[in-house]
Amino acid sequence: MQNTQNEKENLVLPGDVIATAEEYVPGRNTMEENGDVISLAYGRLKKDEKNLTISVQTPRRKISLHSGQIVYGQIMKMDQRRATVKVGAVFDREQGLIEYVADGSIGMSSQYGRNNEPSMHIGDFIRAKILRIGDRGLDLGIFGKNLGVLRTLCTKCRLPMVKKNAALYCDNCERTEIRKVADDYGMINIMEDMA
Ligand SMILES: [Zn+2]
Repeated sequence: MQNTQNEKENLVLPGDVIATAEEYVPGRNTMEENGDVISLAYGRLKKDEKNLTISVQTPRRKISLHSGQIVYGQIMKMDQRRATVKVGAVFDREQGLIEYVADGSIGMSSQYGRNNEPSMHIGDFIRAKILRIGDRGLDLGIFGKNLGVLRTLCTKCRLPMVKKNAALYCDNCERTEIRKVADDYGMINIMEDMA
């Protein structure tokens, strides 16, 4: 299992494995799954060594979005024209990663790669840039080397895929899938999100 948490700042993302259930009891914004404790939120790790609980703190500060900012979210829906994104956090230069819930979408017109395969899939966890703040949500883009898919599950067996050469590979199914991945796929570095 990949551990994508940022060691320096102890920032975690939804889905990150933050401990084993033998080490800590899941606290706020966490859950136990197959012997692991998993983060359910964007935020900072907090370990309570006395009660042996681990939780994720989610700062909800006021912030006004602007174009060019980096957001994190998950692909919820896709059709030929647009991918719908549930935005869960925004990166602010002064404050760092801030939980922020918003609706966003990505235009799909230029998102098809070789063999006409889309460069994202439903459920993919992405980092995107705000192109425009529209009436119906955020217009997002994933062009740029630090933008794109950060975590994805194999569409067949639902295990996390690893980056191998230019593609994503499932060790379990021994097959590859194509995505537009961010260059830090598998080792997410939140502190380098300087838009
Ligand atoms: Zn698989």
